[in-house]
Amino acid sequence: MIPYSRHHMDDEDIKAVVDVLRSDWLTTGPLIEEFEEEFARCIGTKHAVAVSSGTAALHAAMHALGIVQGDEVIVPAITFVASANCVVYQGGTPVFADVDPGTLLIDPASVESCLSSKTKAIIAVDFAGQPCDYDALEDIAERHNLVLVADACHSLGGRYKDKPVGSLAALNTFSFHPVKHITTGEGGMITTDDQRMAERMRLFRNHGITTDHRQRAQKGSWFYEMVELGYNYRITDFQCALGMSQLKKLPKWVEQRREIARLYDNAFFNIPFVKPLRVKGDVFHAYHLYVIRLILDGTDLTQEEIFHSFRESGIGVNVHYIPVHLHPYYRNKFMTTVGQCPVAEDAYTKIISLPIFQGMTFDKVDYVIECVKSLFKNHV
Ligand SMILES: *Cc1c(COP(=O)(O)O)cnc(C)c1O
Repeated sequence: MIPYSRHHMDDEDIKAVVDVLRSDWLTTGPLIEEFEEEFARCIGTKHAVAVSSGTAALHAAMHALGIVQGDEVIVPAITFVASANCVVYQGGTPVFADVDPGTLLIDPASVESCLSSKTKAIIAVDFAGQPCDYDALEDIAERHNLVLVADACHSLGGRYKDKPVGSLAALNTFSFHPVKHITTGEGGMITTDDQRMAERMRLFRNHGITTDHRQRAQKGSWFYEMVELGYNYRITDFQCALGMSQLKKLPKWVEQRREIARLYDNAFFNIPFVKPLRVKGDVFHAYHLYVIRLILDGTDLTQEEIFHSFRESGIGVNVHYIPVHLHPYYRNKFMTTVGQCPVAEDAYTKIISLPIFQGMTFDKVDYVIECVKSLFKNHV
């Protein structure tokens, strides 16, 4: 099966991890700071805070903003559930904005219609790897005194108007899950220029305790203070070693993803049943996903039949995503309903994600293209 995404691992990555496994510090060691500094330099922000997952990064961001019960945070309907769950972890309420029909990115007009006196923040999700309309979102945030957060878990290596993803919002979160651009197994990062927020998130990932194990060992002291409630959201040193090794290859990998997307774009240009998502002119797309919209008028095929047909051909297609407000948890707890985000709900019945990942050979890309072409042969 050709997966929709997967990690790429070379001998250099493996050696980097093994070296740390033979060292004194498996966790809370020197590599955390090294990875953070390297990452911040790569993005161009003052600070980067490494944590145990992209979800932990989002939770830490909500904590740093001081989201509490009664607060509302606007989240797009099309995203992974973690983008909304992080608001609920803090006792807040996610309010679901609809998406643009062409790009499936959060629609600034819908964001405006979601505003209330309780709104504290907007979480922009760079769906599929395409940066959102940050100028419009920042404008709304400024006018209403809100904080803009970027869930950039899809868009590491991307750019918006020549500014790198990770530098576009007050807080920007990343995931290093194996399907993402670079991996640490599990892992995440938040980038920011705000030192106070960075410090709050470092406390938060370590139980709310002011010093970590290594700092106490260096000082020769047993004393520490817990000043607020935190979690254990630490990343290990061997994961950071892997992250640094992978980060070196990011530019090359983004180019590979963009090349695959170019081949798909060219191949599907003449197929009336397949429409790739719209790419805006002012972005450098990082292509975490390659999403097509199926235009099935004039065929007797359904999304589900096409999905299974791909799977039977050994192509691990997927659907990203079931709109978050349609999940039973949100319907039961937050009374969300069918019909509240019509664009997202309609898109969900028409989209399919095709395989795209670093190290995907052109043979495999051609095979996927041939399968897409042959899908419709006997159905028009
Ligand atoms: C992957 C992902 C997350 C969560 O990251 P984990 O590292 O799996 O916790 C959050 N938001 C989006 C948009 C993602 O794609």
